[in-house]
Amino acid sequence: MPLLPLLQRTLPRVGLRWQHRVAVEVANEPVLEFKPGSSERLALQKALNNLKGKTEAIPCVVGGEEVWTADVRYQVSPFKHSHKVAKYCYADKDLLNKAINAAVAARKEWDLRPVQDRAKIFFKAADMLSGPRRAEVLAKTMVGQAKTVIQAEIDAAAELIDFFRFNAKYAVELEQDQPLSVPPSTNSMVYRGLEGFVAAVSPFNFTAIGGNLAGTPALMGNVVLWKPSDTAVLSNYAVYKILLEAGLPPNIIQFVPADGPVFGDTVTGSEHLCGLNFTGSVPTFKRLWKQISENLDRYRTFPRLAGECGGKNFHFVHASADVPSVVSGTLRSAFEYSGQKCSACSRLYAPDSLWPRIKAMLLEEHQKIKVGDPAEDFETFFSAVIDQKSFGRIQKWIKHAETSPNLDILAGGKCDDTVGYFIQPSIIETRDPKDPIMQEEIFGPVLAVYVYPEKRYQDILQLIDSTSPYGLTGAVFAQDKAVVAEATRLLRNAAGNFYINDKSTGSVVAQQPFGGARASGTNDKPGSPHYILRWTSPLAIKETHAPLGDWKYPYMQ
Ligand code: NAD
Repeated sequence: MPLLPLLQRTLPRVGLRWQHRVAVEVANEPVLEFKPGSSERLALQKALNNLKGKTEAIPCVVGGEEVWTADVRYQVSPFKHSHKVAKYCYADKDLLNKAINAAVAARKEWDLRPVQDRAKIFFKAADMLSGPRRAEVLAKTMVGQAKTVIQAEIDAAAELIDFFRFNAKYAVELEQDQPLSVPPSTNSMVYRGLEGFVAAVSPFNFTAIGGNLAGTPALMGNVVLWKPSDTAVLSNYAVYKILLEAGLPPNIIQFVPADGPVFGDTVTGSEHLCGLNFTGSVPTFKRLWKQISENLDRYRTFPRLAGECGGKNFHFVHASADVPSVVSGTLRSAFEYSGQKCSACSRLYAPDSLWPRIKAMLLEEHQKIKVGDPAEDFETFFSAVIDQKSFGRIQKWIKHAETSPNLDILAGGKCDDTVGYFIQPSIIETRDPKDPIMQEEIFGPVLAVYVYPEKRYQDILQLIDSTSPYGLTGAVFAQDKAVVAEATRLLRNAAGNFYINDKSTGSVVAQQPFGGARASGTNDKPGSPHYILRWTSPLAIKETHAPLGDWKYPYMQ
């Protein structure tokens, strides 16, 4: 149901202070099934047909105006790279500085807008995504980022809608969170945006993450420069336009595709930088963090740094595990969206007692996986990897497996980039649990397996904890409750999202707030009420309603 009327009914505006707490009711967006003949499937097919052979022209949007620079680029469809899906341009340093100035000039007025007004824009955008604009954004995510129907649906529809609705709810409810007032004074807290601009740098792999990285700081009263990934410009621009149509004023978010280092160098060099909202790889986040620390004397305020980075996510299987659950969960986690989820399982630890059964089932099911064009053939389970660079990087891992004496390729291993950047789902067994394939993020459809002696499972839990620098997601498969408890204790710091008898992917906003520590990031948990606190700078106000009286204290008499 559209939430805007509901919001209008349930939110009496009472200025800065609230008389009583009003909860804003929202629920997770249902994930649609797209069964043959369903209305959502027909709408999606129509939207996909509309994109066939088309190249959308996407400008930078700076100072409320569409701007083109001479540095023109193309986004191609990963599964058919002859199809240029978007023509866009890079903002250069001058344009980025213009964007900073335009954003900073718009900040004061936006920050003073009541949070209910700002929230309404995000509720409206969520309603548009849930209804009339769903098919368009899904189709653009499928064709531009090579997602299947369901992968686009859980990302560009369900997760993005949930981010907008839940964050808007949390923002409105936060304002009700007021300090104690003790007569003769009243105390209040004003949740201001940060002073300056926030740089939002988004990855290619989730349309929802782009919307959230730029959208949440804006919701909280900040102004933002949004740099989308080169390989997700098409879908990200659609989301941006929806926000504008939902009522986001010009200049609150500047849309600036740009060369990564040019963007990074420019924003970190500005005295007005007050926040970095980043999701992507560890090297990029570290580079930005270092640049910010080097420029620290320049800034008017300490910039807030939020970064969600990579993972080397594990599935630990105990001898008491349910084998079909292990196989289904692992196939989905390792290979959905070609393993290009930060939470994808890429290392499986299986006990020798169960391995023959797990292996037989894994290989049998593996044969049924269809890799192809997700827009033409809805039976496709996954498609091409995002671009030539990723293709080359993943191919190197396959070569490593082919040449290393410790590794055997059990399934897959073929790569073909003639039409699109296709890599077969690959299962690789290692005899060395410390091989780089067990330690480093691959970000592709490659699952490494280590078979351990059943009785040594406690050592293996220690090994899992210490093998990789990451701490993002992980899963334990065991029916033995004591083992589950022990694994939960020993792996306490190995993951920020921990699953028991479930796969390591698929977190849902407000249900499993997402993020990890160690090299995986600052663990700010997008999808929870805590996340919005990163984008506010509260002002505490005390007002006293009685004369102050004598300056001397009673003990001084
Ligand atoms: P990436 O680091 O290559 O790029 C991320 C963004 O940074 C892109 O927009 C890119 O253009 C930009 N960028 C690159 N160099 C820059 C620079 N010097 N200054 C400023 N911006 C710069 O990552 P990617 O390939 O887009 O995404 C994949 C990575 O993201 C993986 O490591 C994955 O695990 C991680 N990821 C993490 C999460 C999470 O929530 N933890 C979610 C999605 C993706």
